[in-house]
Amino acid sequence: MQTMKRFLDWSDYENAGMGDAYADIPKAGGDFAKAVAVCINSRQCEDKGKKGVMCPSFRVTDDPALSTGGRVRLLKAALNSDDPDGALGDAELARAMDLCVACKGCKRECENEVDMAMIKLEYLAQRNHHRGLSSRGHLFASLPQWLHQRPWMRRLPAVVNRLGPLGTPMRRLLGLANAPLPEPSVRPFTSPAPESSSAQESTGEVVLFVDTFSREFEPGIAESALRLLRAAGYQVEVVGDRDGEASERPLCCGRTWLGQGMVDEARAEAERVLNVLKPHLQAGRAIVGLEPSCLLTFRDEYRLLDLGEEAGALAEKALLLEEFLAKEIQAKRLKLEWTLPAEGLPPILIHGHCHQKAVGAMRSVRKLLKSIKGLKFEFIDASCCGMAGSFGLEAEHREISQEMAEGALMPALRERPDAQLIANGFSCRHQIRTLGDDRPVHLVELLARLLPEHTGIER
Ligand code: SF4
Ligand code: SF4
Repeated sequence: MQTMKRFLDWSDYENAGMGDAYADIPKAGGDFAKAVAVCINSRQCEDKGKKGVMCPSFRVTDDPALSTGGRVRLLKAALNSDDPDGALGDAELARAMDLCVACKGCKRECENEVDMAMIKLEYLAQRNHHRGLSSRGHLFASLPQWLHQRPWMRRLPAVVNRLGPLGTPMRRLLGLANAPLPEPSVRPFTSPAPESSSAQESTGEVVLFVDTFSREFEPGIAESALRLLRAAGYQVEVVGDRDGEASERPLCCGRTWLGQGMVDEARAEAERVLNVLKPHLQAGRAIVGLEPSCLLTFRDEYRLLDLGEEAGALAEKALLLEEFLAKEIQAKRLKLEWTLPAEGLPPILIHGHCHQKAVGAMRSVRKLLKSIKGLKFEFIDASCCGMAGSFGLEAEHREISQEMAEGALMPALRERPDAQLIANGFSCRHQIRTLGDDRPVHLVELLARLLPEHTGIER
């Protein structure tokens, strides 16, 4: 049998299922096949009554082939065939993998921790290698590049949005759904002047990683984070801002390339990130980020990109802002005063991004909000919002994407028109807005509004 080329480092699974006669490891694929074979076919992922995220595509279709275990069954059949490379192009498998939204729900909720989001990444890389990637895939993948290097393209999403039905031919040409596209900000985030306080006076030093989405689309989120961290007394080093420490263009975690299976390009982005973060990691500083799908790439996808020791150090130091603040509360180091309006705040509803949930970060959100006296909040019990990166913007996925949102999330929002809404995922906020609700803000934007007035950033 021919040896199958692999694009990710699956060595973590080297010993998975070895010596177990029932492990049913497929013939081709080496350690990748072992990662697929960790599924024990319990069909728990087909239980729609369960709370949690897994598995959004099964929840809306009732089709077992579109559950995590269904995908495993199809992948095993392909990897056991006489021509595994060819069999990965099988239409039924392609459909099942196409409708996996890489939410990582299975990684946390499946009893054997099947990591289908990573398996999909390898699958996409294999597909691109054998069959190439569409122009739409290239367009979505290279978003961080063209936002910076083709400034005229920044206006395109707004133009397409305003064209209404006249924009249909362009949407058809690009394979885009008839849904609003996210519009880049006219004023992307740039770092304000460094703070004046000395390291001796500060609570500590942190690095704020500003991701592409916060920087280019919603700069107010990065501004709020900086304001909050400085108000708490931290010396903040910003990386990933518009001026860029990397001369070519600002840093990016590589998420948009990973979403399209472009592993080599994502690895190149990761190497740029590691180069810039290396001195901070050596100094032991925490790396704090805002967008779950970006920051958590440091802890998850980077493990499989064969990036060397520094990637391990980054995985240990990378924290979502809520995780960082919750740890600081635990260590009794967080020095923040909150000012709630005299009339109180409306109740707060929180929709967790799937990747936040997959690493258990909602516990940190709870801890942080509980530390603010007088704040009332509730978590929404819902699966994936259905936007999942570019998934919900793609013509053939729009319908199922909306069905995912309508499963639990949107009804829960409609029930509470009085509430403020927190959603830390860029895609989640965009999906909710496309469905007519413009309430969502990032948690840090709410927190920054609760700071006393005098703690603004000098710009
Ligand atoms: S993916 Fe997980 S939950 Fe689904 S059948 Fe396999 S082991 Fe069971
Ligand atoms: S990553 Fe999400 S959509 Fe994909 S199989 Fe796992 S739970 Fe289902």
